Amino acid sequence: MVRKERISVPRPKSEFLSGTCVKCGTENVFYSNSTKEVKCKQCGEVLAYNTGGKVEHSESLGAEVKRLDYT
Ligand SMILES: [Zn+2]
Repeated sequence: MVRKERISVPRPKSEFLSGTCVKCGTENVFYSNSTKEVKCKQCGEVLAYNTGGKVEHSESLGAEVKRLDYT
């Protein structure tokens, strides 16, 4: 981990995440604050549920979820 010089860097609350569907192995990119459930683009398995704020990952989403950094 690289230590940042400034602590209070403004960050967006939401972010794009990338995770793999455990059913078919397809990598899906989704929005952490999606307003609806996230389904696998390949097989339609629900990968994350909308909880009114951040999405909650379902068990069909692989354990390794990457955060996509973008500026
Ligand atoms: Zn799938």
